[in-house]
Amino acid sequence: MTTNELEIVQSTSKKEKPSQDQVPFGTLFTDHMFTMEYEAGKGWFEPKIVPYAPITLDPAAMIFHYGQTVFEGMKAYRTEEGRVLLFRPEKNFERLNLSSERLSIPPINEEIVLEYLTKLIELEKDWVPSTAGTSLYIRPFIISTEANLAVAPSKTYKFMIIMSPVGSYFTGGLKPVTIHVEDQFTRAVKGGTGMAKTAGNYSSGYQAQANAKKLGNADVLWLDGVEKKYIEEVGSMNIFFKINGEVVTPALNGSILKGITRMSIIELLGTWGISVTEKKISIDEIYQAFQDGLIEEVFGTGTAAVISPVGELNWQGKKMIINNHEIGDLSQKLYDTITGIQTGKVEDTLGWTV
Ligand code: PMP
Repeated sequence: MTTNELEIVQSTSKKEKPSQDQVPFGTLFTDHMFTMEYEAGKGWFEPKIVPYAPITLDPAAMIFHYGQTVFEGMKAYRTEEGRVLLFRPEKNFERLNLSSERLSIPPINEEIVLEYLTKLIELEKDWVPSTAGTSLYIRPFIISTEANLAVAPSKTYKFMIIMSPVGSYFTGGLKPVTIHVEDQFTRAVKGGTGMAKTAGNYSSGYQAQANAKKLGNADVLWLDGVEKKYIEEVGSMNIFFKINGEVVTPALNGSILKGITRMSIIELLGTWGISVTEKKISIDEIYQAFQDGLIEEVFGTGTAAVISPVGELNWQGKKMIINNHEIGDLSQKLYDTITGIQTGKVEDTLGWTV
């Protein structure tokens, strides 16, 4: 057997599937997981689908000390006819390799890994829920495993894919959220790791998120790390504004994550004849547009919620109520179209689903 031939070890005890809307996000996992090893000089080897189980690591494993790790987040959706669809999965593996490059982790073969993922989903297809808004969340990730406290890239890694059924993000339809514009803490800076999906970018946001929540906000809007002037992204989402008929979003600048939903929205709006301006957007200019009554819609975009309308922005004690806390027409239409494509209800003329 070559080292790249997939080995499948079937689980003998299957877990009970949950009632679809009652599982808190990311707390229950399917019966199997994918694992693959890496060693310097040998490359990636031993791809396996095995029963879901804890793994053993040396306490000196580099992941525990220097956080050399990357991850992805994607979803599998069930169509009304029972087929299972992935949404632009090749983009997630492309981004995984971009993140890995930034973290000095060796690249994976994107096409072959997508084949392994397809095999894993085939085996676990009964775990893909079918009620509206539900999906199977897929978490590919790579950890550094070498037992060595030297501050240097690991010589060994483990790539894994685990999967978790998730309920609807919005029960009872889209709901506009209140967001705190963060002007103390920083998520990322140019030249840092903001464009990579790596652990430290997320844990370093917890303190700001907790403060924002205490003040009654659902999440934070990050500004640039130097001047605290330019808008970056919101929580785990990219952000769009519709101002006086024009759709704008912060340009990718090295510190913003290149969202696949963001990319899809720009492409989709293009097919509707609506162009999106990608540029540097200052919070002062947003406040001015708000005072002038020109802000029509604000929404976050990401795999979790697809579209999350923003109903209120709080910045330095100033409150900007957006669209009277109501869902904008464009937000709703984008949400309906993208979730429609993901679940096979809207024809996929852009060839996004697999
Ligand atoms: N920004 C951050 C920081 C994120 O974690 C995510 C979620 N991956 C996004 C934006 C949105 O990206 P996507 O549309 O690919 O989910």
